[in-house]
Amino acid sequence: MKEKKSTLKSTLIKNGRLIDGTGNPWFKGDLLIENGKIKEIARKIKAKNGNEVIEASGLIVSPGFIDIHTHSDQTIFSSLGENILTQGVTTHVVGNCGFSIFPIDPESVNDEIYDMVKSILEFGKDYKLYRHLNKYLEDLEKKGIPINIIPLIGHSIIRIMVLGVENREPNPEELQKMKDILREEMELGAFGMSTGLDYPPGSFAKTDEIIELCKVVSEFDGIFTTHFRGFGSGLVRATKEAVKIARSGIPVEISHFKPFGFWPGDIRKACKIVEKAREEGLDVTFDVFPHASNYTFLLAIVPPWVYLSKDRIDIPRAIDILKKSRTDSDLKSKILQEMSTIVGSFLNIKEDKDWVKIYINAPKSKEYNGKHVYQISLEKNIDPREAIIDILINQNGTVNATYLSITAEDNIVTIVHPLSMIASDGLIIPEKSDIFPNPYCNGTFTQVLGKYVREEKVLTLHDAIRRMTSFPAQKLGLKDRGLLKEGYWADITIFDADKIIDKATYENPRLYSEGVEYVFVNGVLAYNKGNFTKSMSGIPLRKR
Ligand SMILES: [Zn+2]
Repeated sequence: MKEKKSTLKSTLIKNGRLIDGTGNPWFKGDLLIENGKIKEIARKIKAKNGNEVIEASGLIVSPGFIDIHTHSDQTIFSSLGENILTQGVTTHVVGNCGFSIFPIDPESVNDEIYDMVKSILEFGKDYKLYRHLNKYLEDLEKKGIPINIIPLIGHSIIRIMVLGVENREPNPEELQKMKDILREEMELGAFGMSTGLDYPPGSFAKTDEIIELCKVVSEFDGIFTTHFRGFGSGLVRATKEAVKIARSGIPVEISHFKPFGFWPGDIRKACKIVEKAREEGLDVTFDVFPHASNYTFLLAIVPPWVYLSKDRIDIPRAIDILKKSRTDSDLKSKILQEMSTIVGSFLNIKEDKDWVKIYINAPKSKEYNGKHVYQISLEKNIDPREAIIDILINQNGTVNATYLSITAEDNIVTIVHPLSMIASDGLIIPEKSDIFPNPYCNGTFTQVLGKYVREEKVLTLHDAIRRMTSFPAQKLGLKDRGLLKEGYWADITIFDADKIIDKATYENPRLYSEGVEYVFVNGVLAYNKGNFTKSMSGIPLRKR
């Protein structure tokens, strides 16, 4: 990295309880930061002239958290990282769920492609797409970023480059072209490839296409992260597909590994499949956010024939049909009845008050934001299903929802499983933006440390920290981050284990977490007891 003046300063952290990220319990000691790196760790280090001293007695000192699954690709350009630093996170992996902001010809982006990418990455008005990874990383360096960024290549984007949004297999020449594009970006320093197999155009890919592409990623020692075909009842089948891909020899990370819907027992079956795969020698692991919910389009609970046309999501057509249903009573009762069937099995919604399980995320609407569908239906004095149709029409179809779609019992399975790491599936939220996010963005790591470690005691503190630091670092192949170790970059989080907690809720998701006191990014103090120092000391990392 370019040396910034401030990184040359040395800081001595005194009397902390050091949890080094390996999974070992804390020990009492001091840690000296010099030139951005951890210079020394010992039980006692004497302060020298010029050392800035931070007294950390009673506090936990740990490696900064590495979030292996985020969508901060674009929003990182316009934020100080407030919602991330307040959780103690110092690195984000971007390019997940099949969508990155490279490699794509910006001129070739039509409205349909734009909407697809935007729906995942929460673009602002001044979005930018890149033909190559290196220009993206250069722009991040030029702009200055609050935390480190690790790029993955989105499979859906490669597909768009070669096949547009067509629902078909590539012919041999096209597949070769996809491999060439992927190879070029891996050479530029990407860490691997991601898929989003629940959404078009990623959903149009067969397993063999992904295996062929993964062979290229393997040439570069990269990883494969997958948002798999797991929507609804597909969890077990999707896990088997991920294992099949792992047989090609690539390390596989299953993203946000939890059931989407009430399918009792499926997640335990899926975990068994992963455990068996590892016995076979396949490197499959997974990550999970702690909230007992999922986040996706509100259209997902409308009958598919309303929003799908030739296997493509056609939002304008969906809105036309929904508008028509207001005057066509047969059409309306058909849609309402099918909605009841969908949410009956998927969310176990049987009566009106069960619609508290769907919270609306509609950035442009104060009227709906943070309210559940039951509340909206009471306010408008209409059937909850009709309330959803109204919201979809009002928001032109581009509205998301957070679904309380998992039992607490199923939710805990992957949080405490020995093969899981903690990741948010969230993103950096610029303070001035009108994004109305899910609460994972602001409260994933702090919820694990506050609720699951301190309150419910289902994880030990040092094991939880391992899942946020050295475990993702190992998966990514990072050689100098993720541990408190001499010579490693000084990404460091200091927090109060008795106070750390998330504050973000479904109703009010933008509240910052509490309990993190100091965060260093590459040796520079980025967060200091409630104040953001604007250090912008993050860097984009390259695999090679
Ligand atoms: Zn995803």
